[in-house]
Amino acid sequence: MKTYAYGYPRLGAHREYKRLIEGFWKQEVTELQLREGLDRLERERLRTYHQAVDLYPVGEMTFYDAMLDHGLMFGLVSDAVSDGLRVGRSWDAPVNLSAYYRLARGADAWEMTKWFNTNYHYLVPPVSPQVQFRLVWAKPLLARQQYQMGVPYVIGPYTFLTLSKGYSAANWPGLWTQLIPVYAELLLRCRQAGAGFVHVDEPALVGDVPPDHWPLIHQAYQQLASQAPILLMTYYDTPADWSLFFQLPVRGFGVDLVHGRGSVALHEQTVEELVAALQRQPLRAEQVLIVGVVNGRNVWKTELSVVANYVRQIQRATPAEVWISNAGPLSHLPVSLASEDKIPPALRQRLAFAQERLTELRLLRRLLDGAAAATADEDTLLRQWNDYTPELGSWRNPSVRQRLAALRDKDFSRDVPYESRDVLQRQRLRLPWFPTTTIGSFPQTEEVRRMRNAFKNGRISSDEYHRFIDGQIRHVVQVQEQLGLDVLVHGEFERSDMVEFFAEKLEGIALTQHGWILSYGTRVYRPPIIYGDVARPQPMTVREITFAQSLTQRPMKGMLTGPVTILAWSFARQDLPWREVAWQLGLALQDEVRDLEAAGISVIQIDEPAFRELAPIQRARWPAYFDWAVKAFRLASRAKPETQIHTHMCYSEFNEILPYIEQLDADVITIEATRSKGEVIQAFERHGYPRQIGPGVYDVHSPAVPPVESIVAIIRRVVQVIPAQRVWVNPDCGLKTRRWEEVLPALRNLVLAAQQLRREFQNGH
Ligand code: GLN
Ligand code: ZN
Repeated sequence: MKTYAYGYPRLGAHREYKRLIEGFWKQEVTELQLREGLDRLERERLRTYHQAVDLYPVGEMTFYDAMLDHGLMFGLVSDAVSDGLRVGRSWDAPVNLSAYYRLARGADAWEMTKWFNTNYHYLVPPVSPQVQFRLVWAKPLLARQQYQMGVPYVIGPYTFLTLSKGYSAANWPGLWTQLIPVYAELLLRCRQAGAGFVHVDEPALVGDVPPDHWPLIHQAYQQLASQAPILLMTYYDTPADWSLFFQLPVRGFGVDLVHGRGSVALHEQTVEELVAALQRQPLRAEQVLIVGVVNGRNVWKTELSVVANYVRQIQRATPAEVWISNAGPLSHLPVSLASEDKIPPALRQRLAFAQERLTELRLLRRLLDGAAAATADEDTLLRQWNDYTPELGSWRNPSVRQRLAALRDKDFSRDVPYESRDVLQRQRLRLPWFPTTTIGSFPQTEEVRRMRNAFKNGRISSDEYHRFIDGQIRHVVQVQEQLGLDVLVHGEFERSDMVEFFAEKLEGIALTQHGWILSYGTRVYRPPIIYGDVARPQPMTVREITFAQSLTQRPMKGMLTGPVTILAWSFARQDLPWREVAWQLGLALQDEVRDLEAAGISVIQIDEPAFRELAPIQRARWPAYFDWAVKAFRLASRAKPETQIHTHMCYSEFNEILPYIEQLDADVITIEATRSKGEVIQAFERHGYPRQIGPGVYDVHSPAVPPVESIVAIIRRVVQVIPAQRVWVNPDCGLKTRRWEEVLPALRNLVLAAQQLRREFQNGH
């Protein structure tokens, strides 16, 4: 029995990763300091692994993103650029850092998208049909040589290729056959350098692998396995076809039993399914089966004795060696519980972050190995691990449970269909054609952040803070009126984060102090922990929104974060199905909607940027997921017919989920459309859309000001598929990361474009 762990957070207990890299960007940290700093961080990380588990990867550390590194390793950048990225003697030396960061976030930046069903965003390697893959940088090998330990870490060819851009069903075989020899070379060099195993990450193998891909995957792994002993690691689900998976000729298989069968917790059925698979397709004694049994994506302690029994069951079912590991990379967890002293003790006792997961693996092995290797410390810890005090009374809220139990079909829909609502809303709102609006947030300046911190730290009174926020709202309302926007927003100055803000105000949700995780590059967020029944003790947004509305005759949008997004960007309890957690959130938001309506608000936006993210990896599980996700949104948005409900989502793969978006029954949807260059519009061309839509016409992720003509051009295109009376004009997303100097001219052009469109299209009517 061995323990294996992977994906330990690179952020550092004090967000050193972020500080170093951002310091370098600001020229406050020199290149040498950055390299030495990340090297120190990596040594620390490897030491943490080393103290707890038997084996772990080396080479996971990156200056920005592992997919970017793999793209560079395989020669995906033109010679002109890669001249600055030559191979060097250490894993971190090859890159000319300014060339590297230009690809990561500068002028030549690669596109960014979500990594499977997580909130981590990777850089998408651009693969063109003409590409010549070649090994220009052997990062895992060099990392292994530098640190003299660990299993070299490689993202597998199937995952790398299917996640890159330019990959398609038609060109797949060609790209695949070209890529495999490059991997073969890399693996061979790793073995020659003395690596006993190579960690090959292939989460894409648990997705919907087309049947005609499997023969080529088998062939390729035949070739790769002859170069080095491969630990083929999968996670986020279990393979749809276990037999095809276990037939791969590799030395070890890593499987994720926690998220097996699309689940979020370890269930007996998953273990049984694995055992059955091992009967059909037995592994050999010299092979290794690495079972992921401690959760890499959620923070609840593992029930060690229960899991130990599962592992024994698996051991009995196979002659292969069984190792235990985390299920899913630990990078989805905060680093450590150690400095969390504000979490209520009864909750804290139940939690495990990344470091505590390593402890769990150690304890689990102790349980499975028996007394042999035990220390007295371990024995005590083991006894205490799952010894909780009883739940706090507030974890269970009878009135929330009753309300949930009483839900009937009709509670999930609005009282009248869209067509009739539309008539009422048009009478009430009296908007022009091509109404203009923004997505919610306005620039969060240094001053806004400073004041929010001052308030949090008690340096200014709540009166003082609210006066400040009101001043910001007053200003942003004035600005929007002057610009001539039609539906206004209050700017979200009081919100640091769209999920955290609501989490702070809801019962049943706790916040951490240092529980940061990376969402991309150096960007971090702090997921709240949903531990009990969710209830709303008092209105959350009504004060700011009604104040904002009192300053203008134009409609002021209420602004809420949707139930699916709050769930997706939190760590959620596991003693209730997520469907119920989402519905509890939906009901709390519904109360907020009612209060906003009662205060005279006529337009309410419920953001759901994570609606797609939570969708299971395997399509077969989509209907079940979307059924409850759609219903959660519909609970939240159950407004009066004359209240116009907006929703907002920002990503480009709309094609496949359009039918579900339609089921949300929102009156207006605003979406990202500029960066994906028409792909979104094509999707709507194919499927149509029976309600109103605001395709983003201004890419808020770029400082560039969109010219009037480019805005008009996007809308002209949209109007070919969606009737002009149903089209809105708005940016892609919120403006909080932009500067006022960028926002003002962009919105000015947006309003000018709408005016031009009105002249162009309305004249004929
Ligand atoms: N209303 C939010 C904002 O404008 C939406 C953010 C998002 O979609 N991620 O900031
Ligand atoms: Zn957005």
